[in-house]
Amino acid sequence: MSPDVAAVRDDYPVLDRSVNGQPLTYLDNAATTHTPRQVYETFESFYAGYNANVHRGIHELSHEASVAYEAAHDRVAEFVGADGREEMVFTRNTTESINLVAHGLALPEFGPGDAIVTTEMEHHASLVTWQQVAKRTGADLRFVRVTEDGNLDVEHAKSLIDADTELVSIPHVSNVLGTVNPVRTFADLADDAGAVLLVDGAQSAPTRPVDVDAMGADFFAFSGHKMAGPTGIGGLYGRTGLLEEMEPFLYGGEMIRHVTFDRSTWNGLPWKFEAGTPPIAEGIALGAAVDYLDDLGMDWVRDHENRLAQYALERLSAREDVTTYGPGLGEERTGLVSFNVDGVHGHDLSSILNDRGIAVRAGDHCTQPLHDRLEIPGSVRASFYVYNTEAEIDRLLDAIEDARAKRE
Ligand code: PLP
Repeated sequence: MSPDVAAVRDDYPVLDRSVNGQPLTYLDNAATTHTPRQVYETFESFYAGYNANVHRGIHELSHEASVAYEAAHDRVAEFVGADGREEMVFTRNTTESINLVAHGLALPEFGPGDAIVTTEMEHHASLVTWQQVAKRTGADLRFVRVTEDGNLDVEHAKSLIDADTELVSIPHVSNVLGTVNPVRTFADLADDAGAVLLVDGAQSAPTRPVDVDAMGADFFAFSGHKMAGPTGIGGLYGRTGLLEEMEPFLYGGEMIRHVTFDRSTWNGLPWKFEAGTPPIAEGIALGAAVDYLDDLGMDWVRDHENRLAQYALERLSAREDVTTYGPGLGEERTGLVSFNVDGVHGHDLSSILNDRGIAVRAGDHCTQPLHDRLEIPGSVRASFYVYNTEAEIDRLLDAIEDARAKRE
C-alpha cells in the first residue's frame, strides 16, 4: 500500500511550524531535506544510551557503538546496491566523497596526456574538484554539452570519452534541471575507454531506487542531509578493487593497522578512508534514514517526486510569464523545477515567498557554468520531498501571481 502523505507529514514536527505568520511550505529539499522523528530520535538513543568511541575500547559501550556504526555501513551499502560495508565509506557529504576520489586516485595517478570527462551540468562540488585536479596534474578537462532540452548530449560524450580518458564524472540527477541522466550509457562508454565512472548521486540517492551495480558506477557519492538524514554525514560507494588500490585521503588514527617510527600500514576497508573519530551518531542516524526511506518504498518516493514535478511544471508552464528549465512536461524528472518569472528578480521573488512562509532557493544553485550555458544569471528552484503536496504547489503559484501583480 502506498504511504499516505498526511501520515508521512506527522513524522516531521517542523512542518507544523509557521513562518511569518503563515504555515511553513518547505520547497527547498534539493538543498536539504527535513529529518523525521525516526531518524533524529537515534541521536537521543545514542547519547543517552551508549555514547562511546568506536573500535577503541574493550568496554561495553564502545562495543555497542561499534556494532551500531558498522551495522549502519551495512544498511547504507545495501540501500545503494553495494556488496557490503567494505564498499561503503562514510564521509561528511558528497563534496568530501568526490574529494576523496580526487586525492586517493586522481591526484596521485593522473598526468599530462590523461583526460577527465565531466559535464556542463556539474555541481561545483564536482566541477571545481576536477578543475583543480586538472590544474595540478596537467590532465585535460572536457565537458559534455547539455542540450537545449536539458539532457546530456550523448553523441558529444562519445566524441570526448577516448583512450586518454581516465575518469568520467557525471551527476545521476541534475540539481537544477531535474534531468535523470542515462548513467548506464556513460558506464559503457567509460568501460570501453578503460576509464572509471564516478556518479554524483547527491540528488538521486534521496529520490529514486539506486543500484550501483546495475548502473555500472565505480564510485557513487551522496549526502545524508538530502535524504532524510542528518548533516555531517555522507557516503562514497567504491568498487572494492579500486578502493584497495587507492591512497588514503586523510591520515591518523582508525585508518592504520600498524605504525612504527619509520612507516605505517593501512587498516582494511572501509576504515582505511575514515581517519580519526568518525561522526558516529550521524552514521547511525544515516542508517536509520535509509531504513525510513525503505519503509516508504523508493519506488513510491520516485513516483511521488515525479508526480509533484509534473504538477508544478504543468502549473508553471501554463503561465506565459514563467520560463522553466530542463525536461518538459511528460518527461521523467526528479521532484524539482527551476524557473524564472518575467520582471521579478529571483531574490525578490524568494523574499516575497518567504513573507508567505514558502521556502525556495534562488541563485545559481552551485552551478554557475550551467547558468552561463543557459544564458541566465540565476533561477528560482522549488524542490519537493516525501512530505510535499499539490496544495503546497498551489500556494507557490498563488504567491507568484501576487508577486507579479505587485509589479504591475
Ligand atoms: N552534487 C549535487 C548534484 C548537489 O545537488 C549537491 C548539493 O546541492 C552536491 C553535489 C553537494 O552536496 P554537499 O553540499 O552535501 O556536499
